[in-house]
Amino acid sequence: MIAILRRSVLPAAWFALSFLGAAACAQAQSTFGPVSIQVDETRAPQKILHTHLEMPVQPGPLVLYYPEWIPGEHMPDGPIINMAGLKLTAGGKTIAWRRDLIDMFALHLDIPQGVNSLSVDFDFLLSAPASGYSSGASATAFLSMLSWNQLVLYPKGYDAANITCNPSLKIPSGWKFGTALPVSKQNGDTIDFSPVSLETLIDSPVLAGRYFRAIDLTPGQNPPHEIDIAADSQASLAMTPETESHLRQLVAEAGALFGSRHYRDYHFLLTLSDDVAHFGLEHHESSDDRVRERALIDETGRIDFADLLPHEYVHSWNGKYRRPAGLISPDYHQPMQDDLLWVYEGLTEYLGEVLTARSGLFNQQQSREDLARLVAYYDAEPGRSWRPLQDTADAAVFLYNSDNDWINWRRGVDFYEEGEMLWLDVDTTIRRLTKDQKSINDFCRLFHGGASGQPDLKTYTFDDIVVALNRVAPYEWSGFLRARLDSTSPNTPIESVENSGWKLVYNDKSNEIEDNREVIRKGVSLYSSIGMAIYGEGIVVDVMYGGPSYNAGIGPGMKITAVNGKQYSADVIKEAITNTKSSSAPIQLIVSNGPQVATYSVDYHGGLRYPHLIRDDSKPDYLSEILRSQAP
Ligand SMILES: [Zn+2]
Repeated sequence: MIAILRRSVLPAAWFALSFLGAAACAQAQSTFGPVSIQVDETRAPQKILHTHLEMPVQPGPLVLYYPEWIPGEHMPDGPIINMAGLKLTAGGKTIAWRRDLIDMFALHLDIPQGVNSLSVDFDFLLSAPASGYSSGASATAFLSMLSWNQLVLYPKGYDAANITCNPSLKIPSGWKFGTALPVSKQNGDTIDFSPVSLETLIDSPVLAGRYFRAIDLTPGQNPPHEIDIAADSQASLAMTPETESHLRQLVAEAGALFGSRHYRDYHFLLTLSDDVAHFGLEHHESSDDRVRERALIDETGRIDFADLLPHEYVHSWNGKYRRPAGLISPDYHQPMQDDLLWVYEGLTEYLGEVLTARSGLFNQQQSREDLARLVAYYDAEPGRSWRPLQDTADAAVFLYNSDNDWINWRRGVDFYEEGEMLWLDVDTTIRRLTKDQKSINDFCRLFHGGASGQPDLKTYTFDDIVVALNRVAPYEWSGFLRARLDSTSPNTPIESVENSGWKLVYNDKSNEIEDNREVIRKGVSLYSSIGMAIYGEGIVVDVMYGGPSYNAGIGPGMKITAVNGKQYSADVIKEAITNTKSSSAPIQLIVSNGPQVATYSVDYHGGLRYPHLIRDDSKPDYLSEILRSQAP
């Protein structure tokens, strides 16, 4: 998963923002079904879906689960709060139910004698606010992204892989759809899908819309690759030939990197709307990618989501095919353990950025600017002094939903971006150890390769990572990784970029990628100068702990109304910071803090500072080689 606004040198407060117990082993062999699942999404524009289930039952007590731990979201955030109108019937009679008082995603019921089939009906209330993840806003007047986990109940005691489902879907009249699910037949607006396991069903969302376009990215090739796009307007579907060519290259570059493909076909499911949640969620044979309506036709928007599709696509190998053993919840009910997210998400973030450059979605200068702003932020992030990188993964369940005020001190889900730097360090270390004969490419072929074809799952542990790295290049990999994961002192982010043959420098010329983000997010990042980030008309989003603005007494949530006697604007505060170089006077800010209005003096004299990378000729240029296209 990736939250687009999470990548947060300019944080996103305005985010209009292994263990398998004995029971799991015992239940693994049991099969259940078939469960008939009929979903009606004709009222999706009204923000309501209806589901009707039929499942075989036996007389006696029964426990039904609603999916709790959602794959790819790494949290127990199944949106059970949005289930409404639940009605259970069997043999023509209503069946009473009671929620478990401890296990809140479990419902208890009693099936009467003489009954062998249970009907389940409920509505799913779609969120309206455009924030959150897959349970966030997912439908507009013109499109809908359907996640099956929101629309099912299933009996306790079975792995999802062993529950057979017969799904069907009714879409609004005239809409088209895209999904990785195999279709058995379509009758008007009703689609019957082939029987699949509950695991495959929940891993295969359906994108539908009035303004819809499907583009074959690999005509005549096997396996097929398609991008299915639903938008809030016809005009937004006009992907440029350049972007289409970069996406074709993305598929080719991933093939060159991993050497095999673990899917029957692959669908990028791209939602273009300003009124849905913006993020990406990986699946084995598809990805749920949601961005702004004009992201394909506006260059600023295109740059903003350039790395989203590569990240989610990499997950088909790193996350779905190879998955930490602790991140598997066979029934969505047993808790996941997030400690290896620095591999699941961190390596994906690294490989996603690499493929963004190799496919041409970013040029090398844009990739370096993106890396520079991340290294600058993490090199200076105060929270690294108390919370080790490992704990950002261990505590991901909390950190995904933490606010962005004081995020630099609390730390967020840093295993994505600091994980990216850790894996850059791994890549350059392999290159150095092998005198440039091997690289992360060899690790990927070894670790993520194998036979192509059906979606498969191979679990791993920390030790498996170390063993695979040692097969590529013998080294003290366990110590290398643990030093970067457990320590609260080393400057590993900056070392990772220095080991790649480049140096981090600051000057007053703005960073291209940060500039683009400021336009999209209507904010300004001043972390590297006065130590704060500001949104809109002066709202302080975050203040660097221990920095100049912190020392002046300013905190998140305050509103800057004037700068050196002038009304606040982004340009006015940047001009004031520029002038500090030639003045010994502090910057005077008039700031409102709830009911109080007061003046704050920021004692800072370094001018505007923006991060960039420059070449270090004393070292080999690994970074340029890493970012260079590898596919024919
Ligand atoms: Zn991800």
